[in-house]
Amino acid sequence: MARESASARVARAARILDLLETAYPDAHCALDHADPYQLLVATILSAQCTDVRVNLVTPALFARFPDPRALAGGTQTEVEDLIRSTGFFRNKAANLLAMAAALVERHGGRVPDTMDELRALPGVGRKTANVVLGNAFGRNDGITVDTHVGRIARLLRLTSATDPEKVEQDLMRLFPRPKWTLLSHLLISHGRAVCIARRPRCDACPVRALCPGAKATAHA
Ligand code: SF4
Repeated sequence: MARESASARVARAARILDLLETAYPDAHCALDHADPYQLLVATILSAQCTDVRVNLVTPALFARFPDPRALAGGTQTEVEDLIRSTGFFRNKAANLLAMAAALVERHGGRVPDTMDELRALPGVGRKTANVVLGNAFGRNDGITVDTHVGRIARLLRLTSATDPEKVEQDLMRLFPRPKWTLLSHLLISHGRAVCIARRPRCDACPVRALCPGAKATAHA
C-alpha cells in the first residue's frame, strides 16, 4: 500500500466505521451487568478469561456480594471459591477485595466516574477504566483496546503500535469521540465473527476493500 496521508487515513477510518456499524448493529458490552459496580467487578474478572465464562460466575458472586460494602466484608477464600473458574483467581480475589475496600474508604461505597479515580483503585488499569466509563457511565474518555482491537487495528493499518495505550492514542486521533466506546464493541464483534485470529475470513469481510492486511485468497 502506498504511503497514506493523515487525512486519507481519517477518511478511510470513517468508512470502516460506517461499514462495521452496518455489519454489527447490535454490538455492545458482552459482560452482563446492572450497575457500575457489577461492570467493574466483571471487567476485573475478564482478564485472561472469556466474557462467557465471566457471565457464568458473576450471578452467584453478585448475589453474595451485591455492592462494594458487602464485597469489602468478604474473605479471600470466599471470593476465590466464587471466581475460581475465571483463572488467576487468587490474584483476582485479592484485587476485588482491595478494590471494594478502596471504594468504601475513598468513595463512600460508590464507583467513581473519572479516569484518574478509577485508575487509582487496586487492580484497575486504563483498559478496565475505559470499559466502566464507556459502558456504565456513557463517557467516551478513551478506547478499550483488547487483543481483538489491537490486532484488527494493525491489520487495517490504523496503527502500527503494539502497546495498547499507543494503539488507543492512534485510534483516538482517527475516530470521532462519540464513537469511541462503540468502536471497541464493533472491532471485538468483528474479531469474533470474521477477522478471527490466525484464520481471518477475508472473503466474507465487509471492510475488505479498505484493509491493507486482507489476505489475497479465501480462507476456510
Ligand atoms: S480483510 Fe481480512 S484481515 Fe482485513 S479486517 Fe477483514 S478479515 Fe480482517
